[in-house]
Amino acid sequence: MSSAATTAGVGVQAAKRRTFAVISHPDAGKSTMTEALALHARVIGQAGAVHGKGDRRGVVSDWMAMEQERGISVTSAALQFSYRDTVINLLDTPGHADFSEDTYRVITAVDSAVMLLDAAKGLEPQTLKLFEVCRQRGIPVITFINKWDRPGNDALALMDEIEQRIGLKPTPLTWPVGIAGHFHGVIDRRTGVFTRMQRSPGGADLAIEEDMTVEEAAERFGADWTTATEELELLEMTGADHDQEAFLAATTTPVLFGAAVANLGVRQLLNVLVELAPPATARPTTAGTDQPVDAPFSGFVFKIQANMNKAHRDQVAFMRVCSGKFERGMVVTHGGTGKPFTTKYAQQIFGQGRDTIDEAFPGDVVGLVNATALGIGDTLYAGRPVRYPALPSFPPEHFAAVRTDDTSAYKRFRRGIEQLDAEGVIQVLRSEQRGDGTPVFAAVGPMQFEVATHRLEAEFGVRVKLEFLPYEIAAVTDAAGREMLRGESNVEVMTRVRDDALLAVFQHRWRMRTVAGRHPGLRLDGVLDAG
Ligand code: GDP
Repeated sequence: MSSAATTAGVGVQAAKRRTFAVISHPDAGKSTMTEALALHARVIGQAGAVHGKGDRRGVVSDWMAMEQERGISVTSAALQFSYRDTVINLLDTPGHADFSEDTYRVITAVDSAVMLLDAAKGLEPQTLKLFEVCRQRGIPVITFINKWDRPGNDALALMDEIEQRIGLKPTPLTWPVGIAGHFHGVIDRRTGVFTRMQRSPGGADLAIEEDMTVEEAAERFGADWTTATEELELLEMTGADHDQEAFLAATTTPVLFGAAVANLGVRQLLNVLVELAPPATARPTTAGTDQPVDAPFSGFVFKIQANMNKAHRDQVAFMRVCSGKFERGMVVTHGGTGKPFTTKYAQQIFGQGRDTIDEAFPGDVVGLVNATALGIGDTLYAGRPVRYPALPSFPPEHFAAVRTDDTSAYKRFRRGIEQLDAEGVIQVLRSEQRGDGTPVFAAVGPMQFEVATHRLEAEFGVRVKLEFLPYEIAAVTDAAGREMLRGESNVEVMTRVRDDALLAVFQHRWRMRTVAGRHPGLRLDGVLDAG
């Protein structure tokens, strides 16, 4: 194939990609939604972390089991579906106990997000934090109001909540007929067509959908129909109509209603992803230019999963392809060191029995096994050097001073901590107030401490003790801020080793607010506001 033909192919492939993540609070239904999406689409592959040899088979059998019972392997980092003519990459955003800085970093690798809300709960803290990362990166957000099959909030009240609390203007694409708990179906606001939606018997299959005329629906659903049409008139008056440009500029959010557990509204969501969500497009580089998708291959590492297995120092680096065609076995350049990096092990982490990934295109995620040379944010490229901006650090919420009793291990202790910091496993802070030079570990989720202490022991032979500190919020300040905060009790200013940022850490959000109130001009940035 001529290189011109290859290049053209890449552009077409990139335009077919939809790479997104679900942002939600635990229990809103993310796993259920993932399974429901997989049911509607055809699963092509899964970039999962492999823990040892036997596990690849584990992933395969999970996939087989999924067909029967719709369970999905929790180790998956990215699922690839095909739907209509599109390749959809769904990147996992680990929640629950696995919530960590990685969860935020995943957002740096997507082109859009689906904000999944529980109809009875509305916006919840973890959703708000993840949304804040989307906002900072200008990522377009589609909202799915889930669990409409059971009692919840009023639909208009939910629209208000979104607009008031996060400042995104909701532009519902569908509108429910029937309050939460009495769901009859949705009206497509653009076509005016009403689709009656019913759970399949048992709920495991696609929903039963049937388009009805306005007259039929009005007769059948009476007062519920009237309410829905009145609400639609209200929406029209407030100009809450979808505007593609405003959506892509992340100032509005298209909204859909449904119930993932019964597959209601899931098909509509897939259609919106295909029709409205942005494809993989040119990506900004540190040179100040955008790397076009049809340039030679480039990608960056957004997540590293280390094996917790003592015997192997195995790790998988997950890379998002940004430009060009990735081919397994190609030798690329590692942006950090300028050294060649061979990608022949790209195959091992793809599950589904066919254990090779032969090629990947912009928007796709490739897992590179045993890529110990790679760090978070590293760029890989073929052809002319390209560099993507370093991934940001996110404000930590958990803090612990870390010590070792073993004085003979001090060098290894230091080396280990440097390594974990470089890999982005944990943030390392130093505090003037801790005169003994004791480093402080800071994390977004407590799991990061477990991974860090385990790896210090397994890989560096250092046993450490953590002393948990009573802080739960951090904001970036400056030298002037450090001076202002000197006299305050229960506030510490620490230096983040990774980027020399000064972090002011507080015990509570309200404490931070009180202190800020006392010091006009105090700089406190970068708090992901979930309060
Ligand atoms: P996750 O923590 O966000 O991954 O949430 P899960 O997908 O595990 O769902 C949490 C709970 O909510 C489970 O018991 C699901 O069965 C339930 N659930 C998810 N979606 C729906 C829905 O649309 N309707 C109802 N009634 N329950 C749901």
